Amino acid sequence: MTSQLPPAAQDDVRMSGFSSRVRVEQAVAWVTAQANALEAEQVPLWELAGRVLAKDVISDVDVPGFDRAMMDGFAVQAADTSGASPYNRLRLVLIGTILPGSGLSFEVSAGQAVKIMTGTAIPPGADAVLPVEQAESRGIEVFVVSEVSPGKHIGRRGEDVARGTTVLTAGRRLRPQDLGVLSSIGIHEATVVRRPRVRILCTGNELLPAGSKPSGSCITDANGPMLSALVRRDGGIPTTAGIVPDDPDAILDAMRSDADVVLVSGGSSVGQEDHASALLAEFGDLAVHGIAMRPSSPAGMGRLGRRLVFLLPGNPVSCLCAYDFFAGLAIRKLAGISDRWPYLQTQLRLRRKLVSAVGRLDYARVKIVDGEVEPIAISGASILSSTTRADGFVVVPENSEGYPAGAEVSVWLY
Ligand code: AMP
Ligand code: MG
Repeated sequence: MTSQLPPAAQDDVRMSGFSSRVRVEQAVAWVTAQANALEAEQVPLWELAGRVLAKDVISDVDVPGFDRAMMDGFAVQAADTSGASPYNRLRLVLIGTILPGSGLSFEVSAGQAVKIMTGTAIPPGADAVLPVEQAESRGIEVFVVSEVSPGKHIGRRGEDVARGTTVLTAGRRLRPQDLGVLSSIGIHEATVVRRPRVRILCTGNELLPAGSKPSGSCITDANGPMLSALVRRDGGIPTTAGIVPDDPDAILDAMRSDADVVLVSGGSSVGQEDHASALLAEFGDLAVHGIAMRPSSPAGMGRLGRRLVFLLPGNPVSCLCAYDFFAGLAIRKLAGISDRWPYLQTQLRLRRKLVSAVGRLDYARVKIVDGEVEPIAISGASILSSTTRADGFVVVPENSEGYPAGAEVSVWLY
């Protein structure tokens, strides 16, 4: 297979360093060209939360399907209440009671009232609901103590959802309340985009399984659980291959999984134990390797068969950053979700200057202090806790030397 880009990435660059780095925007363009929404599938109503609609949903019913009472009270003819007050109580005759769902109804004529509950259908003949608080009832007599105008306290048929209305549009990531609306219009399953299956491989002979106590010269896998949560956030189904040793056969074997996307954490660079890029170049297509950014410069990406493969540096901050710039974008696109970052963005003033080298993009973790942006001093890629101490990050573009104190910058909030 051939790559779309002309980087030196096609050669085995191990231990010789990257001879050139691809610009972030080129790598993003590669992802954008490779990842399109997956095919649609039918999913039952109860499992639709978080799923992405593949088709518009149009209601073929009115909700409510009948004019309904918005208050507990009496269905009456408004004209019968004209002039009523506590000093001029007007008498009506109670001809019946309608309980919700009873299906019962009565024809209301002048001088009559029907007891009615919130949500029940307005009986024919009535044109208003007299709330219980504005009436006194005794046996078959109802005394009106206040006027109601025609239409008062009546919810009209179709006022919530009118038949023919597009209730939700394709691309919508369904919220819990959307399930309520779908159910209310009689939808028991919907056509949604299949969720991408994402295989997570954490490579490194020094790694202990996630959650175990670090011991000796071994460290505990931090990237597995983080990536798994990121994949879920972006609409994918994560599965983990666990810890994979720095062994080409083991890595290739783990990459060849039944997945749409493979995330390889660690071994993405050009060291002696970094095998992933060479494997991809040999058995698939290594499209990008080495990116002009900090952190994450040793990141890479390509294809192995039909799978999109992302090589994420093992340093946890780089791993997070490379995921968010490239892998997350691919997963969201496959899942049919917006390609925008799932972070809120805000404009704030810098407390201190933020320096950056021209020629590479910088991902600077920052804190918000008294409404101003404070760059986090310890910003090495291995300091994962810099991301938990941070409130968000600022992206300094390639052509910028950074920003002076006092400058307004755009902050992405974690
Ligand atoms: P590598 O990208 O494999 O060269 O790893 C770079 C650094 O990140 C090394 O210090 C690794 O020990 C560390 N590292 C690699 N994988 C992980 C991981 N899953 N969790 C935490 N640290 C890691
Ligand atoms: Mg390693």
